[in-house]
Amino acid sequence: MSMDRRKFLKVAGLSTLVGLGSSGAFELLKPGRVDAEMEHGHHHGEHHEKAEETGPKTRLAMLIDIKALTREKAEKIVHTCHHLHNVPNWGDPKNEIKWIWEDEFEHAFPDSYNEYDEILEHSPFLLMCNHCDEPPCARVCPVEATFRRPDGIVAQDYHRCIGCRFCMAACPYGSRSFNWLDPRVMLKKEMAKGRKLNKRFPTRMRGVVEKCNFCVERLAEGKKPGCVEACPDVMHFGNLADENSNVRKILRERVSLRRKLELGTKPSVFYLI
Ligand code: SF4
Ligand code: SF4
Repeated sequence: MSMDRRKFLKVAGLSTLVGLGSSGAFELLKPGRVDAEMEHGHHHGEHHEKAEETGPKTRLAMLIDIKALTREKAEKIVHTCHHLHNVPNWGDPKNEIKWIWEDEFEHAFPDSYNEYDEILEHSPFLLMCNHCDEPPCARVCPVEATFRRPDGIVAQDYHRCIGCRFCMAACPYGSRSFNWLDPRVMLKKEMAKGRKLNKRFPTRMRGVVEKCNFCVERLAEGKKPGCVEACPDVMHFGNLADENSNVRKILRERVSLRRKLELGTKPSVFYLI
């Protein structure tokens, strides 16, 4: 949507609807909204994790503080993630593999019109997989190569992936990349120029899909996601299902946005504005 259209909608007074919080079509979340949402218990876990009914619920989530984000920090975060996960740098958009990437507000929130828009127009945004609570990508995968784990992480099994790319078509956020070319070839070229491979994370083959994995391999070792470690003032990671968690506390105090909330995918990535 162009800025002209945004301005028109504002003049037409539609932005006042946001203040009423009247519809899921508006992604603006006032402080405390998540508390109410979680209490009503309509998160995915309720009906898919019966076996775990007695255990504590987990739904991992990431908060990205747009007020604290600068272009330098965004670059550092992207670099850290792509280094940790051996993501090659093809240098052309067609082959590009993106786990986390920088974009403009206009692209991140094309239908947004709220009182914060004018400030946000000039902020960098970081986009990544939203680890949706109702992930359409997992629903369409014919071989269950991508699936929602009980902790909320939408995982991807590179060995199972048959490269049909249904998940890419189903993801409304462009969060998935396809290896059209052999990533190992580019990594080798980059290594010749001094790039270091992370030997603890597998490289992928040509013909498979990949995306952010919420650093599941680091979580397994008791570490924080790489992006959180790189910029802990920007990235906040925690359990959305636990009302005493860091993320719930922050969401109680800050206004936040989630991308394309109206689609019912229930993203677990929040933008603090
Ligand atoms: S953002 Fe896309 S890839 Fe990530 S869980 Fe949601 S639908 Fe799937
Ligand atoms: S959680 Fe891990 S994989 Fe996802 S963007 Fe952050 S560093 Fe990358």
